[in-house]
Amino acid sequence: MIPSILPTYNRAPMSFVRGEGSWLIEEDGTRYLDLGAGIAVNALGHANPDLVAALTAQASQLWHTSNLYGIPGQQELADRLVEATFADSVFFTNSGTEACELAVKMTRKYWTEKGENRSEIIAFTGSFHGRSAAGIAAAGSEKMTAGFGPLLPGFTHVPFGDHDAFRAALNDKTAAVIIEPVQGEGGIIPVPDQCLKGLRDACDAVGALLIFDEVQCGMGRTGKLFAHEWSGITPDIMMVAKGIGGGFPLGALLAVEHVAKVMTVGTHGSTYGGNPLAMAIGNAVMKTIADDAFLAEVNRKAALMRQKLEGLVASHPDIFESVRGTGLMLGLKCKATNADVMSAGYKERVLTVPAADNALRLLPALNIPDEDITEAVNRLDRAASALESA
Ligand SMILES: *Cc1c(COP(=O)(O)O)cnc(C)c1O
Repeated sequence: MIPSILPTYNRAPMSFVRGEGSWLIEEDGTRYLDLGAGIAVNALGHANPDLVAALTAQASQLWHTSNLYGIPGQQELADRLVEATFADSVFFTNSGTEACELAVKMTRKYWTEKGENRSEIIAFTGSFHGRSAAGIAAAGSEKMTAGFGPLLPGFTHVPFGDHDAFRAALNDKTAAVIIEPVQGEGGIIPVPDQCLKGLRDACDAVGALLIFDEVQCGMGRTGKLFAHEWSGITPDIMMVAKGIGGGFPLGALLAVEHVAKVMTVGTHGSTYGGNPLAMAIGNAVMKTIADDAFLAEVNRKAALMRQKLEGLVASHPDIFESVRGTGLMLGLKCKATNADVMSAGYKERVLTVPAADNALRLLPALNIPDEDITEAVNRLDRAASALESA
């Protein structure tokens, strides 16, 4: 008999009823140290008092009006995002996938308006852009597309990191290039700053748009508000979600003016996107994260965690191969099977998230206390020891 929940997830045997900062708590009081943060979503920890206050204040005022009317919190959050980034205009969605859909629609409309026949979007192997028709066609991996054909046409896939293949694929018919500045699901693999710069130059040379998917690596995760800021270059379009809602479903699509302006009245919409509840949280999250002192703390914590993880890898050479990633978007490339290491972690009550390339993702709350970082790595150390003696 089919389970009453569609069985598309292979769930761990725990379920949580409460959260406190970097901790998740089961009904019987068992506490787990959470290095997954809802897959980089709970950027400010569980039950963050500022976010709880923002949500409950809004909840007693107004939940939803639709986009048929003005939404003050939307104007405020859009202004904040425009102020803090390359972008001139913002559309709010409920998820990263919906931001991807709009990125693809906006790209197509842009070239249509220009009267040019450009529909090919170049994407990279190992990438992840969501599970919609456009998202799976963009990422292109067999794992996500198998059985779901015919796929949305207009995507060309290039092996991640293969500069020659990229140069061969890029031409004056290329509509856009879409890339995660740090691959998340792909195994926590940063694109070197030099490559992002090269990508920007290559796109400019043929007039192609550059789309950054910062759904996972954005919102302070790498120690800058957005990951691409480390490289000094900017995209034309950027997808944001996960951390910006701190656990409330919220995404956004940001774009520069000459691209954004093709999306005129009636060309796109969303019933819930930018609703007052989401905006109350989004504003509270942005107020906290888009702050130099906060980001300096993220970088300090990241350095501490990385140093401890390097020690962990050095003491368990049969379990781990290396630490990779940037900021608090860290990956442990495993020698043992990543799922086994994750399960051993569960026994020590520490939560990690698997990724491709036999990696484990460590995506803690950006405000994780130092003592929780120490405790988490101690627990991973015990988990690795248990696997070694198994
Ligand atoms: C999670 C993710 C998405 C999809 O976001 P949803 O909110 O799950 O729709 C897209 N791109 C990247 C890089 C992601 O990590």
